Order: sequence, then structure tokens, then C-alpha cells
Amino acid sequence: MEHYRSLNTYLKERFGEKVYKLALDGGFTCPTRDGTKDSRGCIFCLGGSGDFSIPVGENVEEAIETAKAVVSDKGAGKYIAYFQSYTGTYAPIEKLRRLYTQTIRRPDIAAVSIATRPDCLGEDVLRLLSELNEEKPVWVELGLQTIHPDTAAYIRRGYALPVYDQAVKRLREQGIETIVHMILGLPGETPERMVQTARYIGDSGVRGIKLQLLHVLKGTDLEKDYRAGKFEVLTLEGYIAVLEACIRNLPRDMVIHRLTGDGAKRSLVAPLWSADKKRVLNAVNRAFERDGLVQGSDYHAAADE
Ligand code: SF4
Repeated sequence: MEHYRSLNTYLKERFGEKVYKLALDGGFTCPTRDGTKDSRGCIFCLGGSGDFSIPVGENVEEAIETAKAVVSDKGAGKYIAYFQSYTGTYAPIEKLRRLYTQTIRRPDIAAVSIATRPDCLGEDVLRLLSELNEEKPVWVELGLQTIHPDTAAYIRRGYALPVYDQAVKRLREQGIETIVHMILGLPGETPERMVQTARYIGDSGVRGIKLQLLHVLKGTDLEKDYRAGKFEVLTLEGYIAVLEACIRNLPRDMVIHRLTGDGAKRSLVAPLWSADKKRVLNAVNRAFERDGLVQGSDYHAAADE
């Protein structure tokens, strides 16, 4: 029995074959890094969550071939080009058009997935994404992390919740599939508050969610606060408990793209148990089995009341 709607199952249903993700770095920055809104970046971020991504530069074809060699030695199959580093729509529209058009037109690319921020989706960008989406699926990933304004201010997210609401509405109107990132274990967030965020994301009508554990990374301002004893990180047991509560409170058809994060091990300060991803995923899956987890059991029960 599948305890939750996994990305693997969804990809097989959607594309009918094994699809690999190519992690690419389109050479972007963020409005919270370049001084437009802030110059420090989000408090937990070391550099755009793209540690393993291949820089694209001027040569899209070469970068994609290099990324393909990293994920598969067979050279066959389909790929999702995932622009995961920094803010993938924060650049002049001509650059975005060139990059994404060249990528999506390759026969081996089944879809393009772009990580970005809700405040970087102007009408010109939405028009471009909509045009590309006519050719092949375009997915947009939004870093929301939390719905709570005090936490959003602490992490220096740089936009308010209505900006997210508006972005999701416009993306839905364009028929663009949206995936939302949420971090579990942010300072000041209780399990109840995290479940509220999960429910909000579920209610907002997006297709997928990426659940990530908060990692404290070397060199971030979050590390300073952690070392100063201002907050504690989740234990593995605490993480599993809140993960299960969130999944119970998500709609049954929402695709769960990720159950934990892929932190760079050499930068990880805490929680150290998260460095062994295989062990974490085994523990998570065992707990789901033990607890008979069913995605949406609380979400749909509440809707029926
Ligand atoms: S978390 Fe995202 S938006 Fe924030 S600084 Fe890092 S890459 Fe930029």
C-alpha cells in the first residue's frame, strides 16, 4: 500500500517511463541577495539549494549532456530539466526565453521545472511560461516555507502571503503545474503551526509539495543563532511525527515530491542525524508502515465535517 502519493508513481503515470531529473544552474540570483530586497539571502540558505547542479552558461546543449551523464550512464530515457539554483525567473525576459526555449525543444526533455519565488512572476514571465507550457509541461516550484508572518520575517523570505496566493492563482489560470516548498522545523514553529502551513498549501490548489527538514548550514546566519542557543533542531522522531501530521493534512491527490532535504554533508551543522539520508528514509518508511499512515486522512475527514 502506498502511504502517500509519491513523485515516482506520479512520474510513471504521467510519462509512462522512467524519467530522470537533471539538476541545472541557470546562473541566476535572487532579489533577497542582490540588494533589491536584501543582500543577505534567506537566513538558512547557503547558495540557492543547487549544490549538485550543473552550470548552464551559454551552452545549454553541453550542460544538459553533462547533467545526463551524471544521472544515467545509459544515455536513453526522458528527462526533466530542473533549474533548481536561486530564482529561475529572476532575469531579463530575453535570457529566460533563450534558456528555456532551447531546453524544452530538445527531444529528450519531457518537462522543465523551474524553482522560483512568487514575487518573481511578472506578466511577461507568466506569458513566456504559458507559451512554453503549450509545447511541453512546465512546472513552477515556489519557496513558501511557512505561512506564518513572524517566521517569514525571521527567515528573510521577502514577500507576504498574499503574494503567494496571487502567484498561485495566476499560475493556475495559465494551466501551469505548481509545486510548493515547505520547511519543517523552522525556529518558533510548533507542530500545529507546521500543520497549518501544510493545510494552507493543500487548500491553495497546487499540484505538489516538497517537504524539507530544516538544515543548519555552515556560514549562514541561521548557524549563528543556532550556536547562540536561540533554537533547537528537530530530532528524527520529532521530524517523523510532524511529517506524518502534515501528510495526513494534505489532499490525497497532492504529489509529494520530497520527504526530506538533500543538504550538502560537508556544510551540515545540524541536525547531524539527517546526513544519513538512506537511514532517515528507512526510518520514515518504517514509521509510515507502523502507524498505517494515509495521506489526507485528516484533511478529508475535516472537509466532511
Ligand atoms: S532560499 Fe531561494 S530565494 Fe532565498 S536566498 Fe536562497 S535561493 Fe534565494
